[in-house]
Amino acid sequence: VAEQAKNLRTPIVCVMGHVDHGKTSLLDKIRGTAVVDKEAGAITQHIGATEVPLSTIQTLCKGIMGGNVVVPGLLFIDTPGHHAFTTLRSRGGALADLAVVVVDINEGFQPQTIEAINILKQFKTPFLVAANKIDRIQGWTPTKNMPFIKSFANQPEFVKNVIETRTYELVGKLSDLGFSSDRYDRIRDFTRNVGIIPLSAKTGEGVPDLLMMLIGLAQKFLEDGLKLHVTGPGLGTVLELKEERGLGYTIDTIFYDGEVRTGDTIVIGGKNKPIVTKVRALLKPKPNREIRIEEKFDRVNKLTAAAGVKILAPNLEEAMAGSPVRVTKEANLESAINEIEAEMERARIECDELGIMVKADTLGSLEAIVNELRAADIKIGMAEVGDISKKDIINAETINDPLYRVVLGFNVNMLPDAKDYLSNTDIKVFNKDVIYHLIDSYKEWERVQRE
Ligand code: GDP
Ligand code: MG
Repeated sequence: VAEQAKNLRTPIVCVMGHVDHGKTSLLDKIRGTAVVDKEAGAITQHIGATEVPLSTIQTLCKGIMGGNVVVPGLLFIDTPGHHAFTTLRSRGGALADLAVVVVDINEGFQPQTIEAINILKQFKTPFLVAANKIDRIQGWTPTKNMPFIKSFANQPEFVKNVIETRTYELVGKLSDLGFSSDRYDRIRDFTRNVGIIPLSAKTGEGVPDLLMMLIGLAQKFLEDGLKLHVTGPGLGTVLELKEERGLGYTIDTIFYDGEVRTGDTIVIGGKNKPIVTKVRALLKPKPNREIRIEEKFDRVNKLTAAAGVKILAPNLEEAMAGSPVRVTKEANLESAINEIEAEMERARIECDELGIMVKADTLGSLEAIVNELRAADIKIGMAEVGDISKKDIINAETINDPLYRVVLGFNVNMLPDAKDYLSNTDIKVFNKDVIYHLIDSYKEWERVQRE
């Protein structure tokens, strides 16, 4: 392991779970605790991500974490708006190296919890379950930021019993999904069992345990071949294409390997063909966000994975969330273009001659939903990344079969002009952020239509 420590990059951790179960609160807590703690090293804000260095984690985990850690810290991917980061890809599979599934211990598994776990299973991403909101359990006596195992020991017997019962309910649900699991402190082999960490994003109890476990999990999977070495030219994935006032089109990108510099040639997967362009600027968010746009970012000349950065470059309009990004030397340009083309080809979806239209927020989520539609025997006429536009509605109008005059949107917005236009048509739009809800609503609607 010592020899592996060279050039080891920060593992990328994605936080997922059902709405309102506490994903944002958990990330805020991790950030807040780290910022408040003067002894700890500074956390770094990235575009679309937050980096918590090992020194901070060690300070927060004083007394419960062992030594000999080689992982330099953790890069948490934030989940702004409607994006499903779970489905973002890297060349090797999932963009996230590890994941945290947040579940409200008082509510248990909900549709998006199950969906998140099914996606992690599909991509073989190791994960932990954060059983959040333990402070809401009747009788719980909080001690701010205390490790769960210590705070648990201070609780009265009836509170302990509730925690145990609810934890076993989660174990049961995980078992239904094909995972063996237990409370984290009872697990020996984390490559075979999913660890459950009861915690509170509000009081911070259990957060040290979670951080410690994430580091442990990264180290464990590192020994088993998790690829965390930074080598050569930068490889990344587009999180979001954004138009910034005064800057034009930019791509928020997570680099998971290598380096990128200002002036580098990059190749990006585009809507129709690979985009070849030069990095004009690499922008990182300023610690204290200013109001004026040109003061919102710091310009950096060079960046090493894992990192999130906003790239400013010409010709980015056709880039998509989920598109691969590759830094290349001019001499290798042709092979870089071929690589990107091959990656996009793998992501391309075979459509039926006649069928419904599908829109999704990223290439990965589009693939996930198309797989589910195929399994349900639903014909797909068109499948694309992006918000629902007026053009999509017009396209749907060209179809004669009433059962296919339909647009399914997953994790996307309906653009205002599409909404206006739609109101004067008979096109049916289903727009949801849970795949199963989307498919069930369509099937239900189709059944009624047939009657
Ligand atoms: P998200 O939708 O998963 O990002 O959930 P949020 O972080 O926005 O949390 C949803 C609600 O639950 C908010 O009102 C939070 O204040 C509350 N919440 C989150 N975590 C906790 C917790 O650990 N304890 C309590 N009591 N409330 C929490
Ligand atoms: Mg949130």
